[in-house]
Amino acid sequence: MQHYDVIIVGGGMVGAGLACALSGQGVRIALVESVRAAVRTEPGYDDRAIALAYGTRRIFEGLKLWDALSGSATPIHRIHVSDRGYPGKVNMDREAEGLPAIGYVVPARDIGRVLTDAVNQRDDVDMYCPASVAAVSHEAGQVLVRVTQADSEVSMTAAVLVAADGADSALREQAGIGCRRIDYGQTAIVTNVTPQLPHDNVAWERFTDTGPLALLPMSEQRCGVVWTVGSDQADAVMALEDAEFLARLQERFGNRLGRLQRVGKRQAWPLQLVSATQSVAPRMALVGNAIHTLHPIAGQGFNLGARDIAALAEVLVDAIRAGEDPGSAQVLERYAEWRRRDHKNVTLFTDGLVRLFTLPVPGLGMVRSAGMLALDLLPPAKRLLTRLTMGRSVQTPRLARGLPL
Ligand SMILES: Cc1cc2nc3c(=O)[nH]c(=O)nc-3n(C[C@H](O)[C@H](O)[C@H](O)COP(=O)(O)OP(=O)(O)OC[C@H]3O[C@@H](n4cnc5c(N)ncnc54)[C@H](O)[C@@H]3O)c2cc1C
Repeated sequence: MQHYDVIIVGGGMVGAGLACALSGQGVRIALVESVRAAVRTEPGYDDRAIALAYGTRRIFEGLKLWDALSGSATPIHRIHVSDRGYPGKVNMDREAEGLPAIGYVVPARDIGRVLTDAVNQRDDVDMYCPASVAAVSHEAGQVLVRVTQADSEVSMTAAVLVAADGADSALREQAGIGCRRIDYGQTAIVTNVTPQLPHDNVAWERFTDTGPLALLPMSEQRCGVVWTVGSDQADAVMALEDAEFLARLQERFGNRLGRLQRVGKRQAWPLQLVSATQSVAPRMALVGNAIHTLHPIAGQGFNLGARDIAALAEVLVDAIRAGEDPGSAQVLERYAEWRRRDHKNVTLFTDGLVRLFTLPVPGLGMVRSAGMLALDLLPPAKRLLTRLTMGRSVQTPRLARGLPL
C-alpha cells in the first residue's frame, strides 16, 4: 500500500502541470497516466499549435518552467480578427495591453515534453505509466485507489484524488457528476503551413461561413493552422492532395500572407463542449478538460486549465501548511468557489462565439460586422475582452503572478 497526499489521474498538460505545481511543497504525489510518455512526445502524436495567454506564461514562470519552454514559444504581437465577406475587424495589440506579447504559440508536444521531463526529475512525484485506475473507494477520511500497471495492481491512499483525465473523464462519471455535452458537428483540421510573406508575429482569426479559421505564428516562419469544417466534410478535407488542400485554405483565408506554400501533416479533432455541473465531489477535485472541454475558437481550453492548476495547488498547499485536511469538503469548496466564475465566463464566451459565427440567421453577418467595428474603436471594451481571456477578471493565484507557492 502506497500513501500519498494527492493522487492525480491523467498526465496530460493539466495533470502533469498540477504535479509540477505541487512538487517541492512537502506534498507526496502520485501521477497515473494511461499512455506512455514516449508515445505522447513522439513527432506527429500531438502537433497542435497551442496559443498560451500571457497569464499562462506567468504560471509557467511560477512553476520555474518558462525557461525550458520559451525556446519553443513564438510571441504573438497582434491578434487580427475578421469575418469573411464583411468589413468588420478587430485588432488587439501588445502595446495597447502594455505587455511584451499578448500571448505565445507553442506546439502541444513541446509543452508535454517539458512537463513530463520535469515530472520525471522530481523525487516527490511517483509516476505510474502506462497505468489506469481499476477502482476508487472511500475509507476513514481518505480515498483508496487501485491502479493497474502492466500485469500487477498497486493500491494507494491519499487525502485527495484529482481527476485530470480529460473530456471523457471516467472519474467524473464514477463520482456521479453530470455534464452538459454539445456536439458542435464541427471538426478542427490541424496542420501547419509556410506562407510566402513573414507572419510578423500576428495571429489571424478569420470567421468564414463554413467555420472559423486560425493561422498562428510559429517558428521558422511557419503558421499553425486550425481550420474548422463541418464534420460531414472532414474526411474529404483530410483526403485532399496537399496542393488542393492549400488552394482551398487560401480561398478561405485570402492573400494577407501571400501564397500559402508548404503544408505539414494533418490531424482531425472532432469538437464538442463538455461542461461539468460540479468541479468537486467528496475527496475529489476536477481540473482541465475533465471540467470544461471547449471549442478551440478562442484558444481558451488549456489557458483555463492552467488557471485551475494554479488555484488548486494554492488551495491544497495552503491547507496542508495550516494543518487542515486538504481533502475536506471545506477546503475543496474553496477551490470550486474560486474557479466558478472563470469557468462560467469563459465557457459562455467561447460557446457564444461559436453560435454567433455559425448560426444561419439572415442579416446576422452585418450585425456582427457592426459589432466588430464598434469593438475595434472602443479600447476599454477590448481591454475587458483581453482581461476575460487572460483570466485577469478573477482573483489571481500566486503562481499566475509568477510567484512561488
Ligand atoms: C484543435 C484544438 C486546438 C486547441 N488550441 C488551444 C489553444 O490554442 N489554446 C488553449 O489554451 N487550448 C487549446 N486547446 C485545448 C487544449 O488542448 C486542452 O484544453 C488541453 O489539452 C486539456 O488538457 P487536459 O490535460 O485537461 O486533458 P487531456 O489532454 O485530454 O489529457 C487527459 C489525460 O488523461 C489520460 N487519461 C484519461 N483517462 C485515464 C485513466 N482512466 N487513467 C489514466 N489516465 C487517463 C489521457 O491519456 C490524457 O493524457 C485546443 C484543443 C483542440 C482540440
